Amino acid sequence: RIYLDHAAAMPVHPGVLRFGRQFPGEFAGNPSTLYQEGLAAQEAVSRAREQVASLVGASDTASIVFCSGATEANNIAVRGTALRNAKRGKNVVASAIEHISVLNPAKDLQKSGFSLTLAPVDHYGTIDLDALRKAVTPETVVASVHYANNEIGTVEPVREVAEIVHDRGGILHVDATDAAGRIPIDVERDGIDLLTLSGNQLGGPQGVGALYIRPGVRVQPVLVGGGQERGLRPGTENVFSIACMGEAARLAGEEMPGESRRLRAIRDRLISGITEMEEAYLTGHPTERLPHHASFRFSRIEGESIQLAMDMLGIAVATGSACTSRTLEASHVLLAIGLAHDEAHGSMVATLGRTNSPDEVPRIVRAVEETVKRLRAITPL
Ligand code: PLP
Repeated sequence: RIYLDHAAAMPVHPGVLRFGRQFPGEFAGNPSTLYQEGLAAQEAVSRAREQVASLVGASDTASIVFCSGATEANNIAVRGTALRNAKRGKNVVASAIEHISVLNPAKDLQKSGFSLTLAPVDHYGTIDLDALRKAVTPETVVASVHYANNEIGTVEPVREVAEIVHDRGGILHVDATDAAGRIPIDVERDGIDLLTLSGNQLGGPQGVGALYIRPGVRVQPVLVGGGQERGLRPGTENVFSIACMGEAARLAGEEMPGESRRLRAIRDRLISGITEMEEAYLTGHPTERLPHHASFRFSRIEGESIQLAMDMLGIAVATGSACTSRTLEASHVLLAIGLAHDEAHGSMVATLGRTNSPDEVPRIVRAVEETVKRLRAITPL
């Protein structure tokens, strides 16, 4: 089989598996205790904090808060920051193509008296900076613009976004779920106040993530309980997964230059092979895109049928949102870049990873050709 849906789930990195097998060596206890077993667990979490901080250029390791994944990190970032700073203003800004785990907490804040402004993007999915200048006002507490989009691969001009948000006194949250470990991120250079990371997208296990919080930025917890993770993520730490996420971050940082170059070359061959086909189009930015990401749309066919047909040919691809492919609604991302409903339904997303090789490209292209031809022959559209 050929697996092309790394944005939905990444196989755990073999180095992380090796690390996990020998962890904790001896039983690691509860990090909140003071005896040796507890101290060993504390040490494992601290090491992971350093490794994750180092991947994103965070100089203060205490700025990393571990949680259950990108969804939770996004909720803490959007909801926790807005509520904690509500005295400053009652507006939240998000780009129109954020992940639903940003958009839904932002919409939910409207019940607490916040207004939500969606900042538009152009047909490549790049945020419209002029529109953002108007959207962010002194009333804006937090603005959320992702580093890169999971459905169309477009990388956003984060530094320019940071300037605009900071000029108006706002706090910038950046969801880097799909970008971290693929392109260099530096919270200092990029001017990021809050940064979402997913453990699995770095090559670690599923169900663990982290939020970077710039020192001085005030955030309130979304869950309440014990004082773990500075009270921002109460509950006994997922020590094993956190330690594995740390190791994944270390390996991702080490391997990123070579691996991104390798995947970019496969991606480009895939894009040129597939866009040669009739009525097949690249979605997202042609150059400012994630190195492992190739996304397309085909007229007159449905993404779900493409996924099923490709699966029968032994190839796993995504359609629509990579992590919630089961919804049959047209993707809000594809609508926001200006596609009509019927155009937005025919999407296919291929996200590459370490098991993919250039030799697979001809077979993938042939499978897409066969799939599209067969589906078009039976389409009622
Ligand atoms: N943010 C982005 C940009 C994503 O692509 C995803 C899903 O992969 C998430 C957040 C949610 O991640 P999780 O389901 O791991 O919480």
